[in-house]
Amino acid sequence: MSILCRFAPSPNGRLHVGHAFSAMVNHDAARASGGRFLLRIEDVDTARSRPEFEAGIKEDLGWLGILPAEPPRRQSEHFPFYAQALERLEAEGLAYPAFESRADIARAVIAHEVTAPWPRDPDGAPVYPFARESLTEAERSRRRAAGEPFVLRLDMARAVERAGLLAWKEAQDTPLGPVEAQAADPAAWGDVVLSRKDTPASYHLAVVLDDAEQGITHVIRGLDLFFATAIHRLLQHLLGLPEPVYHHHRLILGADGRKLSKSAGAPSLAALRADGAMPSDIRRLVGLPTWSEA
Ligand code: GLU
Repeated sequence: MSILCRFAPSPNGRLHVGHAFSAMVNHDAARASGGRFLLRIEDVDTARSRPEFEAGIKEDLGWLGILPAEPPRRQSEHFPFYAQALERLEAEGLAYPAFESRADIARAVIAHEVTAPWPRDPDGAPVYPFARESLTEAERSRRRAAGEPFVLRLDMARAVERAGLLAWKEAQDTPLGPVEAQAADPAAWGDVVLSRKDTPASYHLAVVLDDAEQGITHVIRGLDLFFATAIHRLLQHLLGLPEPVYHHHRLILGADGRKLSKSAGAPSLAALRADGAMPSDIRRLVGLPTWSEA
């Protein structure tokens, strides 16, 4: 079975060892299967994305010996493509404009929590504390036409009702390991955001559309995205998209036991390289066999 997989970083900082691990696991799996590896630049958040970080990603991958089979797909170049899917979801009554600001949402959660804890999504963020029914459709249309800022949200209750029980295919142990059905629980995420004024396609929407458009057969990424896969599977179902196999790999943890992150001070690959590290040192550091051992 020859696979098509991708590494899909957001160009909002330099890559660290955790990113290198994910890219190497993808690249190794493509190589082992006689398949292909692609790079996708996930720059839907145009305010945080920078061309110099995209250049850094390419430089770091090149240093690791990872060459994508094609020039990268850049999400910011495909907003009209994502907009079509949004129109379809709206036309089918599965997405709706919501007008609350982030501050409105925080206030509502605090008000709820006076009496009891408010439900959190699998990432630990409070679920959307308002209901679609709190405004009539006519009122939503009027406010939108009047130019009020809004986000488009998925109507999770309707979407789940439409889809019924869903599962995704998870490859066990390794990206090419045996596949088992994993029950999906998208409802735990509430009415997730599908687009904002400053981000015309959310990560969730763009990722499923691009994986389908690029014909990705295996989505290989970190365990931090395991539960989000429920949303991705749901969107695939609603939009009639093919279903890739998923594999969620272990995360590389820092000395504090937490996932590596730029904000927590993880050293960049560029800094390690400047200190004299070799690509084989990076492989050893993350517990992957070096080429001579592979
Ligand atoms: N762009 C996402 C990130 O940097 C990864 C998306 C994915 O692999 O599905 O976390």
